[in-house]
Amino acid sequence: MQYFSTNNPEHKVSLSQAVIKGLAPDNGLYMPERIPVLPKELIESFSEKGFQEIGYAVIGALFSEDLSKSQIKELVDHTLTFDAPIVQVEEDIYSLELFHGPTLAFKDFGARFCSKLMSMLQVKDEKTVRVLVATSGDTGSAVANGFLGVDGVEVIILFPKGKVSLLQEKQFTTLGQNITALEVDGVFDDCQTLVKQAFLDPELNEKLLLTSANSINIARWIPQCLYYFYAFSRLPKTGKKVVFAVPSGNFGNIGAGILAQRMGLPIDHFVAATNVNKVVPDYLRGDAFAAKPSIQTVSNSMDVGNPSNFPRLLSLYGNDESLFREKVRGYFYSDEETVQAIQAVKPKGYTLDPHGAVGYLGLKDFMSENPGYVGVFLETAHPGKFRDVVEDALDEELVLPERLAAFLEGEKNVIPMGKSFEEFKGFLEGLDS
Ligand SMILES: *Cc1c(COP(=O)(O)O)cnc(C)c1O
Repeated sequence: MQYFSTNNPEHKVSLSQAVIKGLAPDNGLYMPERIPVLPKELIESFSEKGFQEIGYAVIGALFSEDLSKSQIKELVDHTLTFDAPIVQVEEDIYSLELFHGPTLAFKDFGARFCSKLMSMLQVKDEKTVRVLVATSGDTGSAVANGFLGVDGVEVIILFPKGKVSLLQEKQFTTLGQNITALEVDGVFDDCQTLVKQAFLDPELNEKLLLTSANSINIARWIPQCLYYFYAFSRLPKTGKKVVFAVPSGNFGNIGAGILAQRMGLPIDHFVAATNVNKVVPDYLRGDAFAAKPSIQTVSNSMDVGNPSNFPRLLSLYGNDESLFREKVRGYFYSDEETVQAIQAVKPKGYTLDPHGAVGYLGLKDFMSENPGYVGVFLETAHPGKFRDVVEDALDEELVLPERLAAFLEGEKNVIPMGKSFEEFKGFLEGLDS
């Protein structure tokens, strides 16, 4: 199967080029040229199948022309080493818990799949793949842990000095092996600028094989459709219509849900829930799409003013804006409302993280306007990852899962870096000599 650029449907590349390049040269996002539709009986049979088995069927439908059966199995087995259970929170409302992976956020799914696929597609004797990532927290930890120890791949993480929580920092600065962390004397935007400059520098790209592992890469984006199939298969068969609410920032996660829907999964509606970074909810209510500077909130992994996956969503609806606006409902919430949701749900016996809380609020609003649905909101991170906000909201101490606590023991190891491109380029050039 080939992949086209959202900026030019005539520009098509192979799976391996799309994965290794990340972004199309015309700045577009890669999309599969055909979206396979799974037979209805197959989707119905998922309720008797395990997560991995569902994964073989879905990934097989997308990648069988490019990968062997055993490669597909290896890829899915490597990705799905932890569960994604649905937990009932209220009548007809379920939380899809995506935080049972190594770094306790949903990005573990995409990062694990991406690392395995990159190493599979890498031609023998080719240069080492250098994955450059700028992070403000969760992406760095998921990518570092996903790529740890993967042959032929080196990960270089750029993070802003003093701007990342201790817990997040420990998750990518203590690993060693093929993971290098650069502590940049600047803010997140400086890190992102350095990475972009490196991708555009002809001399560097002549010498090194550089790629990106953020959610614009199809290898991180596509596998996220798996847990929609799995969650749907575990819902009680009530005959009611199903809505999924997705707390969104760059809109990769919700885009993967729409991909699952286009592959035949009978999801009736999507809710795009955001914090006050509400470019997409504004668009869905009729405004033109207009990127804005991002605003800091308590759900900081969604503080995105220019959602990079937006063209992908439009493409999934055949670039039909009115269809897109009809099928996806947008809502946004303030920090105050987010904290109140965490407090209101606690007595029901469930602890939300600030991102899941935004998803929950969106689901509640949609369901009160549209009775008769069963709803699922995505719980994208463990509340312990956003300990300060959740502990403040609930006025009690959270018990950290062992995996999180274990990271705190490791020793931080970083290379200090200024924000000039010359210094960063010099560092990269030194890698192969
Ligand atoms: C990255 C992230 C999001 C946003 O996901 P997108 O795919 O960028 O929309 C939401 N919640 C958490 C916890 C995240 O880390």
